[in-house]
Amino acid sequence: MNPATHLDTMRRQWQSETDYPVAEAWYQRLDSHNGITRIWEPHVHPLEQANFWHIRGSERDLLIDSGMGIVPLRESFPDLFDGKEIIAVATHTHIDHIGAIHEFEHRWVHAAEARQMEHPSGVVTLICSDIHPALSQIFVEAGYPPFDELLVDAFPHANFNPFDYRLRGAVPTRLLADKDVIDLGDKRFEILHLPGHSPGSICVWEEATGVLFTGDLIYDGPLVYEGPGMDLDIYAQSLRKLKELPVSVVHAGHDPSFDRARLLQIIDDYLSRWNLR
Ligand SMILES: [Zn+2]
Repeated sequence: MNPATHLDTMRRQWQSETDYPVAEAWYQRLDSHNGITRIWEPHVHPLEQANFWHIRGSERDLLIDSGMGIVPLRESFPDLFDGKEIIAVATHTHIDHIGAIHEFEHRWVHAAEARQMEHPSGVVTLICSDIHPALSQIFVEAGYPPFDELLVDAFPHANFNPFDYRLRGAVPTRLLADKDVIDLGDKRFEILHLPGHSPGSICVWEEATGVLFTGDLIYDGPLVYEGPGMDLDIYAQSLRKLKELPVSVVHAGHDPSFDRARLLQIIDDYLSRWNLR
């Protein structure tokens, strides 16, 4: 059977067999007083359910990561994406962080992941069987729920066909390096290149407030450190650097935000687990 016919058969079976509910709203948001909005996709499997962050600036706005791109992002939040200049930064190029970046005019990523952003590989569909079994096993052992058929537990609309989704690549418009600055007018952020989860992983650091956006370098859930492009020694080195930073709040790529005490606790937990303290 040729691949096209096989896919058609799967699609037909899919349409007759599924009964996934339609989500009331695809995205959720949480606004905080300091012009930071957290957005996430509650119907995406926890492994790929990322936080992405909209930050208001006086001159321009910043978007850190952009979710899966299952539903257009800009038109879902007309009050946030209101025509003002916005810089979309990817902390790294995994499927749950760059899905909607193609919607934006300014698309910034670390140079080490420029190619991956343009031509995404690895997990690029919603079909769980497309994830390499060895990888799924690592994720489940790390504490994530099992992978059934799909990476979603609801559809955004009644005519949604999960087989039609594929992560869309986008050409970066600026390649970032360590210590680069993002100036929003009244807010200033610094790029920290902290690889390990992926070669081009960056954190976005606001020195004035001690606010750190970490992407997937660290979050308050099972960290993913084994897989393509990941390196434990480099990861540990990045976590040690993070300990030196006068962080007050971490807004992470997954799970709720946390304070410095929790940050140090998570880092020390992992370093001792890896015997790399
Ligand atoms: Zn990731």
